[in-house]
Amino acid sequence: MSSFAPSLVLDEKYNPNADIILFLQAKFSEIRRRYKLSPSWPSPEILATLLDQASGQFIYAATVIRYITTSRDGSPHTLLDRVLKVKPTSETNPFAHLDAFYTHILQSAPNATLVVKWLWTIKGEFANFPYLLFRSMRYAPAAFLVNLLLQTDDSDSEYVLGDLHSLIDVPPSDDLETPYRPYHKSLYDFLASEDRCGPIYVGHMQCAEFLLGRFLDICMHKGLPACRPLDHQKFLHFFFNLFMPYIPWYTSRLNSAPSSVDWWASGCVSHSEDGIRWMFCDVHLECRWYRCSPTCKLWRNSILRHCKKADWEVPTRTWLLRSRFNQGLPLNGVLRRKADTKSREIRPTLASTL
Ligand SMILES: [Zn+2]
Repeated sequence: MSSFAPSLVLDEKYNPNADIILFLQAKFSEIRRRYKLSPSWPSPEILATLLDQASGQFIYAATVIRYITTSRDGSPHTLLDRVLKVKPTSETNPFAHLDAFYTHILQSAPNATLVVKWLWTIKGEFANFPYLLFRSMRYAPAAFLVNLLLQTDDSDSEYVLGDLHSLIDVPPSDDLETPYRPYHKSLYDFLASEDRCGPIYVGHMQCAEFLLGRFLDICMHKGLPACRPLDHQKFLHFFFNLFMPYIPWYTSRLNSAPSSVDWWASGCVSHSEDGIRWMFCDVHLECRWYRCSPTCKLWRNSILRHCKKADWEVPTRTWLLRSRFNQGLPLNGVLRRKADTKSREIRPTLASTL
């Protein structure tokens, strides 16, 4: 609630009702022209009701208009009637009608809880949990990558987010660059408050479990078998870098399926050089100096095998022996691509072409 305080102060200063009514009149005029509707629709009484229900919140009016113009579930008449029938359970807070409307839109989806899990993942945060999911990335991921990550055979993005265009900008399915864009932060203020969103509240643990489930599923299947090769490469780059910071939490879940560990290690060699060094150190942290744990052996053997296969520089036996006594031994110089060798190989080729 506190994050919303500035807009309340602003509302008091300039009385937004005049702007809201102008906005509604202009937008309904556009809708009338587009659908060739009667100039008397909607009546002044209905406009007054909408203005009252907005309670000074411009986002309420904007969401109503987006709902009427983007929903595929009826004519503008039907959709506006539906808006007017949505009644809040409480009249005591200024967001009562907005909350009721958000609830109505989300509960119209085939699986409201799944929608909320998608919405939190799209935001890259979970409810009341100070952690940024995409913090290792410079930009929000393209919507198509989020779709590939989250969708399963029986729940694709069209099924989950199909009629939510009033809440979130959904790029076309052939757009491989644009991220999802939620229209207004008030949606997440609503979703973060169990008091306000009631039965559709999804806590951060549920979101984390959902994401872990997708991670394990993708590792067990060694990627997305049905994906087009070019999209798959982009997805794998996103996938390995997204989960790289979390993989130490998931190692024990993958240990029961050594082929998944192997798949993770081979993918990291191609897509996340830092990730592989991190894992090489992390799995060894709990080892005694005289014996490595089964987890450490499983992961380190797999990592070294894939690094050798890719012609990386790998730690020598002496280095490995020293690391038994000094777990903080830096890996930068001993586990890396042979960048220098490659550039030496390229130089004569360049010289011969010049
Ligand atoms: Zn070890």
